[in-house]
Amino acid sequence: MITGKNYIGNQLSALGTKTYKTFNPKLNIENSLIFFEASEQEIEQAVSLASKAFDVYKNTSGEKKATFLNAIADEILALGDLLIETYMSESGLPEGRAKGERGRTIGQLRAFATLVAEGSWVEATIDTADLTRSPIPKQDIRKMLIPLGPTVVFGASNFPLAYSTAGGDTASALAAGCPVIVKSHPMHAGTGELISYAINKAVTKTGMPNGVFSNLNSAGIEVGVQLVKHPKVKAVGFTGSIKGGRALLDIASNRSEPIPVFAEMGSINPVIVLPEAITTKGAELAKTYAKSITTGTGQFCTNPGLILGIKGASLDNFITALSEEIVKIEPSCMLHPTIIGNYEQNRSNAMQQTGLSVTAEFDDTIAINHARQTITTVEGETFLKNKTLHQEIFGPYSMVVQCKDIEQLTIIINSLEGQLTGTIISHDKEVIAYDTVINALKNRVGRIIFNGIPTGVEVCPAMVHGGPYPASTDSRFTAVGTNSIKRWVRPFSYQSWPDILLPDALKNKNPLNISRLIDGIHTNHTI
Ligand code: NAP
Repeated sequence: MITGKNYIGNQLSALGTKTYKTFNPKLNIENSLIFFEASEQEIEQAVSLASKAFDVYKNTSGEKKATFLNAIADEILALGDLLIETYMSESGLPEGRAKGERGRTIGQLRAFATLVAEGSWVEATIDTADLTRSPIPKQDIRKMLIPLGPTVVFGASNFPLAYSTAGGDTASALAAGCPVIVKSHPMHAGTGELISYAINKAVTKTGMPNGVFSNLNSAGIEVGVQLVKHPKVKAVGFTGSIKGGRALLDIASNRSEPIPVFAEMGSINPVIVLPEAITTKGAELAKTYAKSITTGTGQFCTNPGLILGIKGASLDNFITALSEEIVKIEPSCMLHPTIIGNYEQNRSNAMQQTGLSVTAEFDDTIAINHARQTITTVEGETFLKNKTLHQEIFGPYSMVVQCKDIEQLTIIINSLEGQLTGTIISHDKEVIAYDTVINALKNRVGRIIFNGIPTGVEVCPAMVHGGPYPASTDSRFTAVGTNSIKRWVRPFSYQSWPDILLPDALKNKNPLNISRLIDGIHTNHTI
């Protein structure tokens, strides 16, 4: 069923000459299937088709888009074991994770289906006319959100389903009314092709325009760069490294028509352990955090890579306990030799920095492509002076910073780059006395967690998965949850437009029965 070809709309195509294979990190061998990188001609075809499809798809009703999104979910489920086996062979991740991620992917698609079927998400706003107003009569003005146009989606290696081909970016862009061209992640190209098959089956079954979805293979950056430069592409969704996201943002900004790039990138997710909390629950915390740091072999964007506390006996005890707990956990496989190579290199680079001590390193023999979980510690002053220590080490690694006092802790938080999450570990109401710390943390993160762990990103309307740069390129938006649809739309006003020519969302009779803001009042009444 996997052909190694590109999907240009619903057509399989392999015009390119460059080929590559995916890799099974568990077996340490290349998988046998050959994938064909998209050629310039195929890129052009996919974008042109998406642009034509947009003319139809942008006017497709919420109900029909919901049927389409639910059909994608059904078709993904219908792929059955083949999807799970392919996922596992391309990622080294276990079956439970594969099935869990498939459930999350399907859940996301259905959540967007529910959102667009209901319809109020378009934020219909109506300011009725007052032609008697003096000296200038007030015109009838009506506003709603409309889709931006063909969108290119780049997924990350560490979520072959939920942040990839039919992941949150694709689901939200399709829900918004934007055709999607996926730049397939080379590490899970087979998983991507299976999902693309499912999406195109849903396109045909539900009568969506051909070209509303394409999937282009590539094992390097060229295809992605060309897509972002293409004048008919109107937005970009990216999940991955800071280096990759920043490169695409720069390309998009330098186009003659700049376009938005919504990139969700790396993060070290600071965890602040307050003094009483570390004294009263340090041992329990050590167990919880050893698990969080190693979940998914630390290959999560919300991995707690930085723990900040106040120097003293309690923090020492915590570091000892965390170090003992983390080496009790069996090392697990990373996604790819390149990722384990980067992990080893970044980890050893950090470990060579002056003033850094390694308190735990799994030092028994481990299987190939498995990661050695590591805990290190530094003094606050050392951390402040050395920006290398502020960088993400993608894998099961975390560093404990021993701050001199609360003032230094606050200075350190202020010195951090933007982060996806920040966590406060507090004893009872201890947190009330730490206003300055909390305020500093709020400035640096998109989500603040109280007495919990940052790993595990719930898909719900209130979720913010994003944050000040470089956690994301635009901290006003989330990449997870139904609000992520807002990335792919723009506000659009109709002035003095005849009712019959208005979209249903703005018509006097409110045929969609949605909630609207009419003359400043939220209502689902007619006019
Ligand atoms: P990556 O190396 O940045 O790759 C992501 C995708 O972007 C790939 O398809 C890659 O193509 C492409 N790409 C990278 N650099 C590019 C460039 N300069 N120009 C054009 N395309 C480029 O990331 P990854 O290794 O897959 O994922 C791991 C990283 O993602 C970690 O840093 C992690 O923290 C982050 N992440 C963030 C989130 C979040 O929501 N914030 C979620 C998961 C992961 P090629 O592979 O073909 O080069």
